[in-house]
Amino acid sequence: MGSRRQEDIILDVPRILEPRGIAFVHQAVTGVRPGEQKVVTAGGEYAYDYLVIATGPYLACEEIPGLGPKMGYTHCTFTLDYALKSRDAWRRLLDEPGPVVIGSTQMASCFGPYYELAFEMDWELRKRKMRHKVPITYLTSEPYLGHMGVGGLGRSRRFLEDEFADLDIRIAASQAIDEITPGEIRLAGGGRLPFKLAMFAPPFKGVKGVAALGNPRGFIPVDDHYRHPDHANIYAVGVAMALAPADPTPVPTGVPKTGFMTVRMAKAAAANIAADVGNLPAPRRQELSVVCFMDMGRTAALMVADPLLPPRQKSYIKKARWAKWAKIGFEKYFLWKMRHGYARLP
Ligand SMILES: Cc1cc2nc3c(=O)[nH]c(=O)nc-3n(C[C@H](O)[C@H](O)[C@H](O)COP(=O)(O)OP(=O)(O)OC[C@H]3O[C@@H](n4cnc5c(N)ncnc54)[C@H](O)[C@@H]3O)c2cc1C
Repeated sequence: MGSRRQEDIILDVPRILEPRGIAFVHQAVTGVRPGEQKVVTAGGEYAYDYLVIATGPYLACEEIPGLGPKMGYTHCTFTLDYALKSRDAWRRLLDEPGPVVIGSTQMASCFGPYYELAFEMDWELRKRKMRHKVPITYLTSEPYLGHMGVGGLGRSRRFLEDEFADLDIRIAASQAIDEITPGEIRLAGGGRLPFKLAMFAPPFKGVKGVAALGNPRGFIPVDDHYRHPDHANIYAVGVAMALAPADPTPVPTGVPKTGFMTVRMAKAAAANIAADVGNLPAPRRQELSVVCFMDMGRTAALMVADPLLPPRQKSYIKKARWAKWAKIGFEKYFLWKMRHGYARLP
């Protein structure tokens, strides 16, 4: 929406790591040789005793003809470069209003940010008194609104259906996309949706350079300690790690691995490696859970799921103005913490 500049949210990684004796190599990994304990890059090979894979998603836009932004007609916010292009597309929409379609494709496994975008767009358009010129449709592979790839959180379905009804955001759930042409989305079920601006979470896969260690979609299997089942000195955390859904959905979706979860996994992997090096017993496994602040434009919602997949001990969604301030406060705290390299083991 233009509320943050690039320089507000990027980190100078070498400057943060080098004072701690951590070398930073800015190269793409093209392969891993577990037998030789080596990582291969275009710039050379690197030997390791332990390897932690945290390569995030490969955005498999080519799985849906016409899906952008690189070679298609839609936008996406999942890299900084793509987010900047989305900002430009948003500005063009403000000049020439028309229908917006927003949401998640089949095999996407990150849903929250597009709900946030739908709410933010609605709010920005209302502030400009333009909302009546921009019909918004929320199109998703989730079986119902608020499923989020985790079977919902508390009353998230009813909550999001009610909020979208109040805001006049149309819903198209449990949909797979066959093809996107300039200005039109063609659905697997036969429907067609025209658009002036379309933004989608694309299908996720594992990154090619490490996919040989993973499942058919390239995600790395791990045990309770985030360790590869066949290679005891290889760990995988975050989106790169394989996580099976509790129940398969009619249109395939993936389980999200949020930033909150990724930090927890990284801390657990670090604690396990430290224990291994020091010949200490492995730390106790911690169950994964979700705590999220969902931006809703003027306000926000706190979402909790503990554990991540049902059945759960705790699971709810709660709308509150304080959640908006908490989200902004957390952003400032997190970036400050990362810029100073402060970390705490679990
Ligand atoms: C718009 C948006 C909003 C979000 N909001 C939230 C939120 O509010 N709360 C929350 O908890 N989570 C949120 N998330 C999710 C969160 O960003 C991810 O869960 C988290 O970044 C995953 O961390 P990761 O380390 O697994 O992957 P990434 O953060 O994607 O990092 C992977 C890194 O690996 C690098 N890489 C890729 N391939 C290679 C290779 N071959 N060799 C070397 N390096 C490689 C990439 O360049 C990247 O730097 C959001 C995500 C998006 C896109």
